[in-house]
Amino acid sequence: MSRVQSLFLLLTIGSALAAQSPAMAARAPVSAPIADVRYEVTFDRSTAAERQFHVTMTFTPTGAGREPVLLSLPAWTPGAYEITNFARWVLGFTAHSGDRALQWDKLDYDTWRVRRDSVPAGESIRVEFDFRADSLDNAMSWARPDFLLFNGTNVFMYPEGRPLTFASRVAVKTESDWRVATSMPRAPDGTLTASNFHDLVDMPFFVGRFDLDSSQISGKWMRVASYPAGAIQGITRFQFWDQLKRAVPPEVAVFGETPWDSYTVMEIVDSAYQGASGLEHGSSHVDIVAPVYVGSDFQPSLLAHEIFHAWNVKRLRPADLWPYRYDVPQPTPWLWMSEGITDYYADLAEVRGAIIPDTGFYALTAGKINEVGAVPPIALEDASLSTWVHPVDGTGYIYYPKGSLAGFMLDVMIRDASDNRRSLDNVLRELYTTTYKRGRGFTREEWWGAVSRAAGGKPFADVERRYIDGREPFPWEQVLPLAGMALHRASVPRLGISTVQDAKGVLVDQVEPGGSAAGAGVRSGDYLVSINDISVVDQTFGVRFRAAFAHAKEGDPVTLQVRRGEETLRLTGGVRLAVGDVSISADPNASPKAVRIRNGILRGITDR
Ligand SMILES: [Zn+2]
Repeated sequence: MSRVQSLFLLLTIGSALAAQSPAMAARAPVSAPIADVRYEVTFDRSTAAERQFHVTMTFTPTGAGREPVLLSLPAWTPGAYEITNFARWVLGFTAHSGDRALQWDKLDYDTWRVRRDSVPAGESIRVEFDFRADSLDNAMSWARPDFLLFNGTNVFMYPEGRPLTFASRVAVKTESDWRVATSMPRAPDGTLTASNFHDLVDMPFFVGRFDLDSSQISGKWMRVASYPAGAIQGITRFQFWDQLKRAVPPEVAVFGETPWDSYTVMEIVDSAYQGASGLEHGSSHVDIVAPVYVGSDFQPSLLAHEIFHAWNVKRLRPADLWPYRYDVPQPTPWLWMSEGITDYYADLAEVRGAIIPDTGFYALTAGKINEVGAVPPIALEDASLSTWVHPVDGTGYIYYPKGSLAGFMLDVMIRDASDNRRSLDNVLRELYTTTYKRGRGFTREEWWGAVSRAAGGKPFADVERRYIDGREPFPWEQVLPLAGMALHRASVPRLGISTVQDAKGVLVDQVEPGGSAAGAGVRSGDYLVSINDISVVDQTFGVRFRAAFAHAKEGDPVTLQVRRGEETLRLTGGVRLAVGDVSISADPNASPKAVRIRNGILRGITDR
């Protein structure tokens, strides 16, 4: 997942915290076994008007007993690490066998218990309900008069306590002039099929009117489905496709294969959405963005991030998340790897695909260092575990930028230790082959073993202890020179006052003791006129102020002109400097080895 400025997210916190564990977990109830599972989804102009769609599930109980069928809905969607409880939006549940209504009740808040004493052996059961689709969230369902987004986790029920390996078929009934987009494969007769429940709920649907086109990238078909029609068109759509064609091949190169049969990029553009957010799947992803994000610098970053997840987390995944379970939270200390390292590779895909120049990569990296510096120190493992409860101290999503920086640091360390013959790519590719390809997740020992092997046997226990499990700041002064990059820490003049604009001018509200302004004798209640003769009401004040003090040293004179009552005073004090943001540049004095490592990172190459 990837999110920026998501105010909507804040609104969902209450419901996420409301229910952390299912009421009946201790009892471990088990449903009667079922077979021949089919789901039918109906969405047309009439259900759209109600902001609903209709769901029918048909199955045949198997086995000799008469025990009830227990049907559950997931509590969350993998990738969106929060409990949502999709059972909330179910309306008018019924159960039938032929024309006979069957008795049912709730076993817990997301499990329906359907009695089948009256159902002859071999006869199928049909459950039906409507689903309220009014949540503009990529893990949920959202209907407009001509469009529906829905996720399988929201509406596809599974037999409680039974293996999730059952195959199923899906039919979508809609208007004849509306479309259906999903990455779910179609059987020769046109039926959508999923070979197991995990795949079934990993393929979201668009139904209705939307733009759809396709192209081949890295040897496989990609499709772009975007709603509303016209939201991404003309030069903007050309640019969108151009970014995909640049970003995907460098990602394929990391793993050496394009893992999907076809891939569907699903975009919703809506002005009701604050920010931009993506949710990954194995062969598709759903982005929801405010209109201002279409064609923005963030667009290729979001695309590259979500698509890299098709390998990292959807396939290569920590053992804690393998297999997914849908009824309870599934916390893991590894989101810094699953999300953060995905974000590092999104930056790399952008620079390796020439979407951004090298300086763009430096700026993204420096931006992440500044982001991490702005929140309390927190261990990557702790931040990963805590995301389920949405901490309020600013660290809730810090495992994205900090995990990205951890990936960058490990990449540099591996390249340095192996004389640029191996990189973090080798770690990902090895674990992809040895764990995902063998049908399981990776363990802590496997991760650090692969890192150490890539680095020619160099031990990483100390790195793990200090920077991943620990809270020590990353040692950029040592790490960046190894990659031929230099870190600059800007110092910025701090006057030590806060001001408010009123009818008479710029009023000094508070004066910080020990600051420049206090030293010069500025008082609360003064009106600030100028600083070093730069008028504070000048339109270009900010630019001129920064230029005037760009090379200032601690204690250099600074003259503040203020109005105090009827008087105008010129007060002189000394400049006080504060540490500002960092920036990164290529180091012109880098060693030949550091230059090879820098080029290796930026171009995606290693030396033989
Ligand atoms: Zn993500």
